[in-house]
Amino acid sequence: MARFFVNIIVQPLFMKIKIIVFAAVLLFRGIIVINAQEQQNEKKNPYYKPTETSKLTVSNAEWKKVLAPEVYNIMREKGTERSNTGPYVHNEKKGLYYCAACGHLLFSSATKFDSHTGWPSFYQPYGNGSVSTSKDADGERDEVMCARCGGHLGHVFDDGPAPTGLRYCMNGYALNFVPNP
Ligand SMILES: [Zn+2]
Repeated sequence: MARFFVNIIVQPLFMKIKIIVFAAVLLFRGIIVINAQEQQNEKKNPYYKPTETSKLTVSNAEWKKVLAPEVYNIMREKGTERSNTGPYVHNEKKGLYYCAACGHLLFSSATKFDSHTGWPSFYQPYGNGSVSTSKDADGERDEVMCARCGGHLGHVFDDGPAPTGLRYCMNGYALNFVPNP
């Protein structure tokens, strides 16, 4: 009789421990799978090469496979993120901003300023070969593109601060910030 009571009290306890251990194993395996997927996503874009400067010609069909949807929409379809919804608007860390599509060096935090527009803004590109500009289709605004891959970044206006008087109004999703070590 005593053995019977031990069985009904102790056995469920063992079952509970087994279930907890089993759940912990599943959770741990899930975390490993998610991490592996994240790493795969980062590796998925073979055109992202910060050390390369040669011009890139990649079809939109190919870009669509390797860019996140919001990045593709901005960079290949000239979309615009809504004000204050993209990354880096209030990023005050020191570092460099690279093209989100190809890894080309575009801007330094040293020329970033708060334009109160809700988009990350700079008064000049990192170097002469960082960006290219051309008139929008309607001829009104000056479009800014990555000089390496031609990806759309935003627009440049002439109401910026000294010393250039320019305001490079960028989509945060078109940029990839790397903080200084
Ligand atoms: Zn680029």
